[in-house]
Amino acid sequence: MATNVNHSDVIVVGAGPAGYIAAIRCAQLGFDTVCIDNWKDKKGSAALGGTCINAGCIPSKALLDSSDLYDTVKSGLANKGIKVAGIELDLPAMISHKDQVISRLTDKIALLFKSNGIKTIHGSAKLLDGKRVEIKSVNGPEATQTISSDNIILAAGSSPINISTAPTDGEFIVDSTDALNFSSVPKTLGIIGAGIVGCELGSIWRRLGSKVILLEAQEEFLTIADRDIAREACRQYQAQGLDIRLGCRVMSAKKTSKHISLQYEDTDGNHRLQLDRLIVAVGRKPNSGNLFAPEADLLLDENGFVHIDEQGMTNLPGVYAIGDLCQGPMLAHKGIEEGMLVAENIAGKEFKLDYRLIPSVIYTEPEIAWVGQTEQALRAAGEDINIGVFPFDANSRALVMDKHPGLVKIIANAQTDRVLGVHIVGTRASELIAEAVLAMEFSASSEDLARTIHAHPTLAESVHEAALAVDHRALHIPH
Ligand code: NAD
Repeated sequence: MATNVNHSDVIVVGAGPAGYIAAIRCAQLGFDTVCIDNWKDKKGSAALGGTCINAGCIPSKALLDSSDLYDTVKSGLANKGIKVAGIELDLPAMISHKDQVISRLTDKIALLFKSNGIKTIHGSAKLLDGKRVEIKSVNGPEATQTISSDNIILAAGSSPINISTAPTDGEFIVDSTDALNFSSVPKTLGIIGAGIVGCELGSIWRRLGSKVILLEAQEEFLTIADRDIAREACRQYQAQGLDIRLGCRVMSAKKTSKHISLQYEDTDGNHRLQLDRLIVAVGRKPNSGNLFAPEADLLLDENGFVHIDEQGMTNLPGVYAIGDLCQGPMLAHKGIEEGMLVAENIAGKEFKLDYRLIPSVIYTEPEIAWVGQTEQALRAAGEDINIGVFPFDANSRALVMDKHPGLVKIIANAQTDRVLGVHIVGTRASELIAEAVLAMEFSASSEDLARTIHAHPTLAESVHEAALAVDHRALHIPH
């Protein structure tokens, strides 16, 4: 950890997407920047990139992609006239490919830091008073040093929430990180929580051969999404074989000699399951616990999120917080934008972030993506709206690809026609949503989208048709 830095223009605590982007942008803006991060990879070495690159977005997408290929080759090619024999799963190789992707990306960030002149310290940082940070080494002999700075950006991220009824052991009952490293495919896999993580991990292991049971506390599936989208997604997931059980209260989960014995109750009574593995995916909490000394007096809300203003500044002048540490969706791209925001603000430049236009994506098949408000939220707010819906089974490209479940739903204000929400469940929804975000960023009307020429044949034509449908003019669905 030894470094002879005593003072810098900017200290960034955490090198996840929020922190590393903030560090790069600060360095680009001419600030002497130090980034402190304590992540250790599987071999115990320092690894930049935080949860997103080491244990979240990237590894899960690597396994989602590989498992989708496996599933498609195994059962999705015959009707296209492709017969494949002797398919075998090599799980260690699939996990190793995922780890190689992680290494390439973490190495890339190290290179970017180097080329931008950012000093990196592998250690655990604690905010002290007077814009000082204490750093404890995480490798080698215990050592502590203190650095002061003109500006401090806290970007320490979040961790999976544990529940006392299903304590994790890192091997049989695991959190979302360890669920990306099973050494074999569990025959029966339980997942507590059918949120974004639960659906993505459930999809990966179902495709690789597990019988997956999702136990969700809420009575409705995926309450964060528009109801039409959630219903369609639920139908598709169930058709694929995901066993989704709603309104479940998990009473206990224990490892016995051979299995995990799980008890839960729902409106039908008490149930017992025997599982090979269990994933706890009930949400994440901000890593604000050991982040600051009491005398630093950093203001948190009742859920442990660091309080910030519109510029990303905490209650302490010159101390900023970004990413999962603060209120808002725990999404890498929200943290990335906040990283840009604080860097620009430190440089005295005008920069604003529109939190209403952060897209959300669930990378299952079909994918789910949305931006803006749901029909239910708009109706509850008394908004007068028009809605256009277009199904992918009326889209030629989706039919060609043989991936046609799902729909696009566009919601516009009934008077102004301004687009208020776009919701997609369908293949490549993660890419299609970018058009909607851009349209809404420019305050587009559904008519603007309807008059935009879309290439044919593309999946994006479904967005075009849904925009036409807002005014009952969709061309490829019966009147
Ligand atoms: P989540 O909040 O999305 O879902 C957790 C689910 O667990 C909820 O549906 C909740 O009702 C349920 N739950 C909570 N306690 C329960 C209990 N005791 N028993 C049964 N069900 C229970 O959380 P997550 O899926 O863990 O994801 C964490 C965060 O990470 C989210 O903010 C998410 O946005 C983010 N994330 C995003 C992506 C992505 O962008 N694709 C991927 C993974 C994670």
